[in-house]
Amino acid sequence: MSHIAYVNGRYLPQRDATVHIEDRGYQFADGVYEVFLVWNGIPVDYGPHIVRLQRSMAELRMREPMSAGAMTVVMKEIVRRNRITTGIVYMQVNRGVAPRAHPFPNANTKPSMVVTAKAFAGSSDAMAEQGAKVVTARDIRWERRDIKSVGLLANVLARQSASEAKAYEAILVTADGTVTEASASNAWIITADKTIVTHPTSNAILGGITRSTVIDLAREAGYKVTERPFTLDEARAAKEVFLTGTTTFVMPVTQIDDQPVANGSSGLIALDLRKRYRNYMDALDAATAWNV
Ligand code: PMP
Repeated sequence: MSHIAYVNGRYLPQRDATVHIEDRGYQFADGVYEVFLVWNGIPVDYGPHIVRLQRSMAELRMREPMSAGAMTVVMKEIVRRNRITTGIVYMQVNRGVAPRAHPFPNANTKPSMVVTAKAFAGSSDAMAEQGAKVVTARDIRWERRDIKSVGLLANVLARQSASEAKAYEAILVTADGTVTEASASNAWIITADKTIVTHPTSNAILGGITRSTVIDLAREAGYKVTERPFTLDEARAAKEVFLTGTTTFVMPVTQIDDQPVANGSSGLIALDLRKRYRNYMDALDAATAWNV
């Protein structure tokens, strides 16, 4: 069965789905996106993903292609047509099609919207038990990382360096030695006094939806969580390091470049948070999960 994509009002086999060569998403990366997980038929944190998409569009002064209610109809239909039980839904909204010129096009230009879905189970428990290796890469991105823009070339280059080193992720480090996040996930450390630390939300990072849920789950469980920047040196000396993301869930990091984190085995607090995140997903309420 070919995957079915939603493209500007139509549902098409993915191989027949095309976008215009003068779409500004294609020419200027003038577009935003979201990815959410469907877990056993139920979307995870769907409302916050749509709210973040709306925020990304607003920050770029993009017109919304449709209301949140209409969007939800499309999302449900894409999940149904692709027979997704556990998988990811990808949605992208571009500013639209117009003759190539840097300024925004005519205000009547319709935003373009594409939605696809595929089966995917997220990061495996086996891998989490073993722990992930990460590499470090210089954070060379622009100053609006809070916007989930499709301008991902710096993330692509960082992730490629991870792939070439057979690592799971690349954590991104600024010129002054601060770890902002990772190429497609948020980065965390746990200090010697068991404080869980992650970069505060700001224009320096993408405010991860999983990050926010994990902060809540950690606090509910009685852990101390502090949102503050931390350095690569602190990460190297940390008791535990982990990553969070929509498909990453909570992933313990056991190696940074060629150096083990602590004793080199998956951190117990990170594994506990992973379990709590899984329980959270398992307990989602089908009746309200699509609410925005
Ligand atoms: N940072 C970046 C750069 C990302 O691409 C992602 C994945 N969307 C995240 C963090 C994690 O965000 P979320 O938990 O919303 O998937």
